[in-house]
Amino acid sequence: MPRTPMPEREGRLRALDFEEVNLGYTDQLAILEATRCLQCARPVCVDGCPVGVKINDFVAAVADGRFDEAGRIVATDNSLPAVCGRVCPQEIQCEGACVMGRRSSPIAIGHLERFVADRARGRGGEQAPATAPSGWSVAIVGSGPAGLACAADLSRLGHDVTVYEALHEAGGVLVYGIPEYRLPTAVVEAEVGRLEEMGVVFELNAPIGRAESIDDLLDRHDAVFIGIGAGLPRFLEVPGEHLVGVQSANEFLTRVNLMGANRSDAETPVLVGKRVAVIGGGNTALDAVRTALRAGADSATVYYRRTEDEMPARREEIRHAREEGVHFEFLLNPVGFGGSERVETMELVRMRQTEPGDDGRRSVEPIEGSEVAVPVDTVVVAVGNAPNPMLSGTPDLTMSRRGTIVTDEVGMTDKPGVFAGGDIVTGGATVILAMGAGRRAAQGIDAFLRSGALVEID
Ligand SMILES: Cc1cc2nc3c(=O)[nH]c(=O)nc-3n(C[C@H](O)[C@H](O)[C@H](O)COP(=O)(O)OP(=O)(O)OC[C@H]3O[C@@H](n4cnc5c(N)ncnc54)[C@H](O)[C@@H]3O)c2cc1C
Repeated sequence: MPRTPMPEREGRLRALDFEEVNLGYTDQLAILEATRCLQCARPVCVDGCPVGVKINDFVAAVADGRFDEAGRIVATDNSLPAVCGRVCPQEIQCEGACVMGRRSSPIAIGHLERFVADRARGRGGEQAPATAPSGWSVAIVGSGPAGLACAADLSRLGHDVTVYEALHEAGGVLVYGIPEYRLPTAVVEAEVGRLEEMGVVFELNAPIGRAESIDDLLDRHDAVFIGIGAGLPRFLEVPGEHLVGVQSANEFLTRVNLMGANRSDAETPVLVGKRVAVIGGGNTALDAVRTALRAGADSATVYYRRTEDEMPARREEIRHAREEGVHFEFLLNPVGFGGSERVETMELVRMRQTEPGDDGRRSVEPIEGSEVAVPVDTVVVAVGNAPNPMLSGTPDLTMSRRGTIVTDEVGMTDKPGVFAGGDIVTGGATVILAMGAGRRAAQGIDAFLRSGALVEID
């Protein structure tokens, strides 16, 4: 049986608004897809999931029409299933491991996870079982997936949890980075609301490291988890990058996603002009270019210095972008921007692939004298992010040369009582890896609080 496709809105139509692209499975489609599962004796898909969702069990429950039970199984290991069902790179995780992938196409685990999570959300979700209060209190700095997952587990373990978030909305990249048409804000709000119902307190507009330090938090909490992400944009560092109209993907996406800057009545609207160029090949570049189309660009082009095969973006995002009218230019790298005050042109050099190195990977190198110039009105730079340096001055917190926080395997830092996880430890990664780190740290914090010293956990 072929894989059951996800119903989607038509490409050119959906590029006109920010409504969600994927429509979700119906009950019948979900059962049809779930019955494709072979129910392997050794479910390797579970090994492929960084938080260990019992995929075989929840898919079996869907196949039987036991949807509520499927939702409960997923929620045991994943506190943000509606988010992960939408944005996880399943093709390189659970679905990448699926045995059916060797015969035909893997089970659509992500689509099924989204189905059970949305269904549970529509019905008010499950109330977390009441846990006896432990009397300990934990501060979480940052409300991205690492912080939210850590908060959920700590709250279930009976601890008082307060999340300190620098921005005016909770969710981290889930709200300020990933656009509405891929992950509706309502989905993140519902997940945050569920945590509030469990007793987690959110302090918004609270950037730690400015008015208050980690040591201030330790004065009124028994432990601290740092999950502040890697939100500092990298630039190309080429001439003309300072021109008006050249901006980082972080700025562009945050302004549109959090401040509605795509609307003409916005206080500080983004002026995309006719021709938008986006530099980069990851999810962020694709989010920026598809957002630019929706914000009114006539043409939106991704320029990537390698080939399509090397693009780190999810394949689904690349396909969706093409269907919406995005252009792609490969093996081209910007070397400068021209214009008097506002950017008018972008100069690029052609790249060629080198022979594969010892690791089998091909690199790229510029072809001398191959420069070309293209007219542009807006340029969005999406070439990666660095760790946020706001807490780098914290005494006793060891940082790596890359600016990440150094921890052990359960997220404990060198500063007693302080744990960290997510992108601030690994550098830019994925939602599910950040969540996995948040969950491991919750176990570590619990063990630290109960024993006074960290005990080994499995
Ligand atoms: C545009 C974009 C698209 C992406 N798409 C995908 C995708 O499709 N799939 C996927 O798996 N991954 C994707 N990623 C990566 C993924 O979103 C991140 O790996 C993940 O969000 C990291 O989670 P985190 O909790 O560590 O940090 P973040 O999500 O970055 O959250 C950190 C939070 O901490 C807050 N903060 C920062 N400093 C402070 C401070 N001093 N005090 C208080 N709060 C602070 C920030 O405001 C933010 O809310 C994408 C990333 C971007 C930028």
